[in-house]
Amino acid sequence: MLSAAVLLTLVTVSVASEGAKWKYGETDSHGYGPPDWGKVSKFCDYTAQSPINIETPVKKDASLKGLRFTTKNRNGRVSGDIKNNGHAPTLTIDKRKGKARLTGGPLGDSVYMLQQFHFHFGCDYDEGSEHLVNGKAYPGELHLVTYNTKYADFDTAASQSDGLTVIGVFFERKCSTFITSGQLIQSLSLPGAEASVKNIALFDLVPELKDLSSFYSYKGSLTTPPCYQSVNWIVLKEPIKLRSFVFGAMRRLKNGEGGLMCGNFRPPQKLNGRVVSELDG
Ligand SMILES: [Zn+2]
Repeated sequence: MLSAAVLLTLVTVSVASEGAKWKYGETDSHGYGPPDWGKVSKFCDYTAQSPINIETPVKKDASLKGLRFTTKNRNGRVSGDIKNNGHAPTLTIDKRKGKARLTGGPLGDSVYMLQQFHFHFGCDYDEGSEHLVNGKAYPGELHLVTYNTKYADFDTAASQSDGLTVIGVFFERKCSTFITSGQLIQSLSLPGAEASVKNIALFDLVPELKDLSSFYSYKGSLTTPPCYQSVNWIVLKEPIKLRSFVFGAMRRLKNGEGGLMCGNFRPPQKLNGRVVSELDG
């Protein structure tokens, strides 16, 4: 049975997490919308922000060769808890049950460890991704968030200039290999809802993770407050295909303001002279 102290802790934690007054959509009594996020964190008004509109062709860069995503097992299996945090369905990796690492290429000698992944998605199929390619939006985008293990933990790394690498993967509609996710996501309807997930095969969900060669790369930021400019972005060119019922399940999720979560993407930010590159050949 839960003791009073534990209950009190839970209440305190949930109140504390509501301190961040930011939201998607328009600024209103529930919080600041994306154009006003600078009032939540000054970094959101800085000049190397994410996401961006990627205009092709981009610069060729041979130093991107050799990027590798690895797990101990063959299928990229990881486990963890998936939670509706009011902004996005977010799966935090239980590292005791299997780690996933990102190394090589542009990361030099640093080892990046998968901390969590989460989804951005639209209320319809013509929007939802954070990154755009030549002005085109996809209906959603998966973010695999890794942190540099030279720092003690994710929170310490998150604000460092070489702290994070995030792999972005676009969603497209159709046949899915991630069949159970519809049911799983449905169970997260309300903020605070949480479910345990065992052995998600990341290589089935995102086959491109087995051979990272076709992607765009640039330096940017977290796409939510505090908007730290600490992210090496790796945006895969090949989208993953999800069945329409998975989109349906995502679009029924509720956000922290009592509305629908869909539309949880930040509009593209100015490039301000930054260079986007891709692997040569
Ligand atoms: Zn994200």
